[in-house]
Amino acid sequence: MNDSTTTTRVWLITGCSSGFGRALATAALSRGERVVATARRVAALHSLAARFPETCRVLALDVTNCAQVRTVVSQAASLFGRLDIVVNNAGYGAVGAFEELSEEQIARNFDTNFFGALEVIRAALPILRAQGSGHLVNISAAAAISNYAGFSIYGATKWALEGVSESLAAELKPHGIKVTIVQPGPFRTDFIGRSLEHAKSHIADYDRTSGKFLSFLKTMDGKQPGDPDKAAEAIIAAIESETPPLRLVLGKYANDKLRRKLADAERERAAWEHVGLATEFTSAS
Ligand code: NAP
Repeated sequence: MNDSTTTTRVWLITGCSSGFGRALATAALSRGERVVATARRVAALHSLAARFPETCRVLALDVTNCAQVRTVVSQAASLFGRLDIVVNNAGYGAVGAFEELSEEQIARNFDTNFFGALEVIRAALPILRAQGSGHLVNISAAAAISNYAGFSIYGATKWALEGVSESLAAELKPHGIKVTIVQPGPFRTDFIGRSLEHAKSHIADYDRTSGKFLSFLKTMDGKQPGDPDKAAEAIIAAIESETPPLRLVLGKYANDKLRRKLADAERERAAWEHVGLATEFTSAS
């Protein structure tokens, strides 16, 4: 066990007002670890700070505010003298057919879920590289295993985050910095409620596809099988492992989805293999 896996670890977590962020902050603090918990409205974090006065620090952070991100990451590192685990959790869903979502809704969803996370990573990396250790945890989604009608942009923000994360994992390995992507299925948080933004316009042609998906989400709200407290424990177990996974798939739904996706991808690859392989220069040419 190296220094970054002892109880002296310092966490920085975005979006701690509810859901996964809150559960993860609480789980880490309950283990005696130190957490810089951030949220757009710090009032939402007062009870957490009161419960763990020695080990919890609270900072206001809207991840779309680049200047605030830089200040908060640097403050987080100086508050406890180091930074070990940086969790990009802040995010929300944008639901609706692609044509129904406005340009502004698309840009804002990317600004939060993707560019917000990138800014946090950009600010944290010089600190983690100087330490020669650290762990980036990026919360993705089952929509990045395979996407649904009605989640084009939300899914795209998470696919983009995963694309960057895979590359970062390779770039950062020699510097002692690990990367874990978390792919949760449906978990009982505020995600389908207050954290799901609906398309501003409605095109009836999409009622059978994205409209159906939205109805499915509504029926699931409050009944999601996933328990965010158990997700937090699973994320901690993954971080503490000698060989942390690049992807941690949470819940039966997401695990089934990944298994289906891998089988479908292999079936399609094999069916088209002869076409793909025929595109190379022949050895004579
Ligand atoms: P949640 O309870 O609604 O939490 C979302 C958090 O993100 C809230 O703390 C919210 O803060 C914060 N947030 C949103 N925009 C922000 C911004 N610009 N700056 C800082 N914080 C911001 O839902 P959750 O399920 O825990 O969501 C956490 C992550 O899990 C998200 O990235 C989501 O995409 C992902 N996820 C969730 C599920 C699921 O089923 N629950 C499945 C797959 C992935 P405010 O209180 O200020 O709004």
